[in-house]
Amino acid sequence: MMELTIGWLYPNLMSTYGDRGNVICLQRRCQWRGIQAKILPLDRQTDAEQFKQVDIIVGGGAQDRQQEIVMRDLKGEKAKALKAKIETGTPGVFTCGSPQLLGHYYEPALGQKIEGLGLLDLVSKHPGIDAKRCIGNVVFEITASPLAEDLKTSLGTQPLVIGFENHGGRTYLNNVAALGKVIKGYGNNGEDGTEGAFYRNAIATYSHGPLLPKNPFLADWLIKTSLQQKYQQEISLTKLEDNLAVAARKAMLQRLDLSNIN
Ligand code: GLN
Repeated sequence: MMELTIGWLYPNLMSTYGDRGNVICLQRRCQWRGIQAKILPLDRQTDAEQFKQVDIIVGGGAQDRQQEIVMRDLKGEKAKALKAKIETGTPGVFTCGSPQLLGHYYEPALGQKIEGLGLLDLVSKHPGIDAKRCIGNVVFEITASPLAEDLKTSLGTQPLVIGFENHGGRTYLNNVAALGKVIKGYGNNGEDGTEGAFYRNAIATYSHGPLLPKNPFLADWLIKTSLQQKYQQEISLTKLEDNLAVAARKAMLQRLDLSNIN
């Protein structure tokens, strides 16, 4: 039986926005296919060795205060292990507060600048407590290569993500590919039309939802990529019945007056 270990970054500190749904979605989609999926919390009690054992990494959103606590812990050997994992292509999905911490720094609304891991070439800044938060449904098209091409092949259509964003911070990309192009919503900063980032096999996004149950094709991409890496063989996943997710996506696009794009 094939098995995967899903590493979940700081479940207690970084699950403010319902992103635990991504972990559950990955685990269930594995189990429905007879793939064993173990969840390994990566938190203050965990040592760097455990960071090395994971096959997929999930990081959720958090408030500024929690992000600061996380970054005080995510240093030294742990930071090194996480960086090495992502650099060597371990697939992962990082939402909102997590990508802010994978970048060079995050300037919170109040308090000191939080140094990030510097893995993604991006910076994030909160314009202050009086600034408008970026909240609402978000729709974007995945444009990052080779992810976009992979998804187009498996879906037979443009890979369209439907999610929900809720952030004060604005992210500005330097030399890293955007994950996608905003169709509706704010995305990285509400100015340049970019959303998220894509690096090696790491998906960074502002999209909660949670992301994966609303966009199951992304969950399957993560599972497939992870299995291929672990078992060094071409993997073809059994198709699952996703009628409910498909209907929910359709309804949401209709509500947002975007029925014409899918
Ligand atoms: N604290 C960050 C912000 O407001 C992240 C929020 C989140 O993870 N949803 O930008």
